[in-house]
Amino acid sequence: MQLYNTFSRELEEFAPINGKKVTLYTCGPTVYRDIHIGNLRTYMTTDILRRVLKANEYDVTAVMNITDVGHFRFSKDSNKVIDPVVAESQKMGITPLQLSKIYTDKFLTDAKKLNMLDADVLPKASEHIEEIIEVIKVLIDKGYAYVTGGNVYFKVDKFKDYGKLSGNTLDKMDQLLEAVRVSVETDKKDSADFALWKKAEDRVMSWDSPWGMGVPGWHIECSVMSMKYLGVALDIHAGGEDLVFPHHEDEIAQSEAFTGEKFVKYWVHTSFLSVEEEKMSRSRGNVFILSDVIDKGFNPLAFRYLTFQTHYRAKMNFTWEALDAAATALKKLYDLAGKLPEGEGYADKYEVEFLHVLNQDLNMPKALAIMWEMLRSNAPEENKAAALMRMDEVLGLKIFEISSKMNDIPEEVITLSDERDRLRAEGRFMLADQLRHRIEGMGYELLDGKKDGKKEGTKIIRKI
Ligand code: AMP
Ligand code: ZN
Repeated sequence: MQLYNTFSRELEEFAPINGKKVTLYTCGPTVYRDIHIGNLRTYMTTDILRRVLKANEYDVTAVMNITDVGHFRFSKDSNKVIDPVVAESQKMGITPLQLSKIYTDKFLTDAKKLNMLDADVLPKASEHIEEIIEVIKVLIDKGYAYVTGGNVYFKVDKFKDYGKLSGNTLDKMDQLLEAVRVSVETDKKDSADFALWKKAEDRVMSWDSPWGMGVPGWHIECSVMSMKYLGVALDIHAGGEDLVFPHHEDEIAQSEAFTGEKFVKYWVHTSFLSVEEEKMSRSRGNVFILSDVIDKGFNPLAFRYLTFQTHYRAKMNFTWEALDAAATALKKLYDLAGKLPEGEGYADKYEVEFLHVLNQDLNMPKALAIMWEMLRSNAPEENKAAALMRMDEVLGLKIFEISSKMNDIPEEVITLSDERDRLRAEGRFMLADQLRHRIEGMGYELLDGKKDGKKEGTKIIRKI
């Protein structure tokens, strides 16, 4: 299996540290608002990666953290650096932990709707403060960090390899710093240093530490939680492309300074999703969430299918037309699958090719193409059914679960549809239309079919 490693900027043969066991850490969401379809795209990469690893008989332990404290951001509204979880909870008049629970649950609901595999562990930063403090203490003892006025900073020039992931070595960093470092951190010895612990006087959400009341920095959370659940050296670390610097660069510095060992073997980064070729932004009003997709009448799995059509390292341009086309293709897939007889054979040629392209850095667009090629081929129908079922272990489109239900029409709906056919035959179209709407309201669609000039009868399908 080949995987592109951001670290080497090359496709590499995948060889985990421990035989068939694979450890995978994905940076999870900051839970103060709904996650958008861009975030979901990045989590889809983790889902597919896990499924492809499984198809190659690897035993994967997947951890995704929940950032519920410490991910400080510059707020244009207040012109200040804020912890968005705290700020948003104050606006809503609830506690930060109540707020983060709401958005963690919503995130997990979206993930379920997209049929993503559950993480094995979903650790929350706020529940790992003690461990974080312990690691910071060691970094201070080893001379990699210093305390100043209740804050603790990582001393970047002490870590000789800084910049090895992103290429942002100290000598190149000056112009970058403005954009990414928190500007109020005026007590740092060097502008490249970053916070491990931040003084926080408001007690809404802060913890006692040897350095006074405060909160951990975002980067140290991931170093500590990945180490706790997966060990000091990880096989794969994943996230969106914007995390390469500074987040992942800083994770490497902290973790390797702490353990003295290489932190991650393979770095996997997903390119951004844009909407109609534009960056998603609240001011443009083009930030879409999964509920928007569902409210427009789409099956969320159509979005899952859509993400397969762009390789994870290519920019993905989301448009409603593209989603519509994906939904149509998916419907056709369910329809074809519903017509296949049950079977146990293999469609060898296609199945081998399917895994082969997946093993080339998760080439989902090609994998989809091979699936369609198989369905259109003259391979025996029973073999196609069995092969499609195996392919769906990776695709996760619930192909047979949905296609079997699509053809499973309740008696009541059939009676109404027959009644509508009778009304149409009698030319009573208004009443017939009323029945159509009633049937649609029950979650079914009617397709009026005519073949060779002869009426073929109405086909009822379950809406998906
Ligand atoms: P955040 O909650 O901002 O930390 O983001 C969660 C994950 O979504 C991170 O891995 C980000 O890199 C990723 N992400 C943010 N915006 C996008 C986008 N437009 N397209 C793809 N991934 C994104
Ligand atoms: Zn992280």
